[in-house]
Amino acid sequence: MTEFRKDITTNEWVIMAKERIKRPTDFETSKKKKIVKNYIDDCPFCIGNERLTPPAIKIYKDNFKSSIWKIRVIPNKFPAVSSEEVLESNLINNYFETISGYGFHKVIVESPFHDMTITSMDYSEIKSVIHSYRDMYKILSKKPVKYVMIFKNHGESAGASIDHIHSQIIAIPIISERLKCKYEIASNYFNRLNSCIYCSMIKKELELEKRIIFKNDGFVAFHPYASIYPFEVWILPRYHKASFGNIGDAEVEEFAKILQEILRKIDRALGQPDFNYFIETAPIDNENSNYLHWYLRIIPRIWNIGGFEIGTGIYINTHIPEETAEYLRTK
Ligand SMILES: [Zn+2]
Ligand SMILES: [Zn+2]
Repeated sequence: MTEFRKDITTNEWVIMAKERIKRPTDFETSKKKKIVKNYIDDCPFCIGNERLTPPAIKIYKDNFKSSIWKIRVIPNKFPAVSSEEVLESNLINNYFETISGYGFHKVIVESPFHDMTITSMDYSEIKSVIHSYRDMYKILSKKPVKYVMIFKNHGESAGASIDHIHSQIIAIPIISERLKCKYEIASNYFNRLNSCIYCSMIKKELELEKRIIFKNDGFVAFHPYASIYPFEVWILPRYHKASFGNIGDAEVEEFAKILQEILRKIDRALGQPDFNYFIETAPIDNENSNYLHWYLRIIPRIWNIGGFEIGTGIYINTHIPEETAEYLRTK
């Protein structure tokens, strides 16, 4: 039995096609992670190798006098966009449209130690990471850009070129068509039903419970009904808030806890897979929106897309969210 399911926040379809032999446990990998040392001579992000990166924009320490930093924010050495560009758009030959590659691309080195991960950090460390995300969001959202994206690529198959724990933040002067489409759907939903579509989704998922993986006072984590990827998790604030940039200190604490808990569950269930996570937040000119709602998406990279997905935009998910949620809850 297979079925098409619709993601009501994007209007996109996914095919749930459970393969008979595939159970959640089939993704447990026995592959042993290589033993990692806490310092690598030529790693540009390791403590002592700071000369290998551009100078830090911001440094976090436990206290002023400490000679050891906790987090370093640095410019990306190979930026996708740059603030040195002059922001201008062009239409060439009435055909080729361009905008200069204006924007900001920073790297957040989240620990001085090479072998650290979000799952092995202590609580104060992960809280500092979230604070650094919020600080950088606030700084970059004051620039002439429209969107700030915070994301982590963890592991080679997730696109990371450096193993050492880090996240990236890119601020761009345009809004993608995918995001515009989501905003329009959310705005229409609000106009029709006088509710944020994401708040409705949270209410429904909490009522049904079957796709819920974990919750605390501030946040809830679940597999979306129309999950594109096996084991894809969304973490949403339970109370309406459009922009990640507006989270308060208490929310930082709750968010740090649930993020670590979910990543630990994924590690235990799937054998420390590579993953991406990223924060979907409101555009800068609509940070107090009553119909947009920020959230973090985690995508374990245990599966690659094929031609059908690229060609149609319809994904085939071989793992049913209700089943994988039940499995993750026990981990
Ligand atoms: Zn390192
Ligand atoms: Zn909401």
